[in-house]
Amino acid sequence: MKEILFLSPVFKETIWGGDRLRTEWMYDIPSSHTGECWAISAHPNGDCLIKSGRFSGQSLSWLWEHHRELFHNLPGPVFPLLVKIIDAKEDLSIQVHPDNSYAAVHEDGALGKSECWYILNCKRDSSIVYGHNARNKAELRALVEQNKWDSLIRSLPIKPGDFLQISPGTIHAIKAGTLLLEVQQTSDITYRLYDYGRLQDGVPRKLHISKALDVIRCPHKDEIIETYGQAQMGDLQIIPLIASPNYTVHRIRCRRKATLNQRYSFLTGSVIKGSGAIDGIPIAQGSHFILPYDYGEYTYTGSLTIIEAYL
Ligand code: ZN
Repeated sequence: MKEILFLSPVFKETIWGGDRLRTEWMYDIPSSHTGECWAISAHPNGDCLIKSGRFSGQSLSWLWEHHRELFHNLPGPVFPLLVKIIDAKEDLSIQVHPDNSYAAVHEDGALGKSECWYILNCKRDSSIVYGHNARNKAELRALVEQNKWDSLIRSLPIKPGDFLQISPGTIHAIKAGTLLLEVQQTSDITYRLYDYGRLQDGVPRKLHISKALDVIRCPHKDEIIETYGQAQMGDLQIIPLIASPNYTVHRIRCRRKATLNQRYSFLTGSVIKGSGAIDGIPIAQGSHFILPYDYGEYTYTGSLTIIEAYL
């Protein structure tokens, strides 16, 4: 019998974080400046522990190391996906991530970072920073050096339920009041371009202007998101969000009872709304789990909205 792996999140305090992970998500967070819930992660900066069952108390990185068969013996040094919930009480720094080949050379063989966002909640008329207006690198460099952020930065309106793909080389920033779920490659490499002149413990956070200028794509191009068909079958609705080389993500809605089939190397699930059960085990908003390789059929019961991801 294959076991579902439930995980305990790791929380990160940040200068821009808030308390909604407690007030809206019922998590036991360390302070009212908690910006990130690393919900499914084997990254050394936040390695989730298995909550129950025969691997209870082991970390996800330990499972990846010692029970790779649970993940179809996938190659690679680390479990490839990282799922976070982000509560931005303040604006996040304007940033960009490298791709795999740049990171391999300049970051000691680390992976680059592609990420995607599902907007859980935001204020009316919210926006995010996404892309820029420079036509070429020279113009980009000039606008950055002259601190002309308003001319450089592009903003995009957002609302709950929106989905965005942030490829390596794309300037981006989450703005105050936004709560979102992020699925990303397992990487923690961020090049900070601008931090609004803020101080952390009395000093500005480090910027990485020259690496950022190296990797920013010029001119900016909006993402064409590839998906496959949407499906509605009785109590089950599947909304595809993205199918990419780094991850495939969709949103599942179950009204009363829905049976699906896990036929991937692994599949992650994050409950973003409602309560019910998976194969009889209670789950609710804030539960995160992994279905291992070849798990086969599984059944959701109850009223649930879930973000699922796999390779
Ligand atoms: Zn980012």
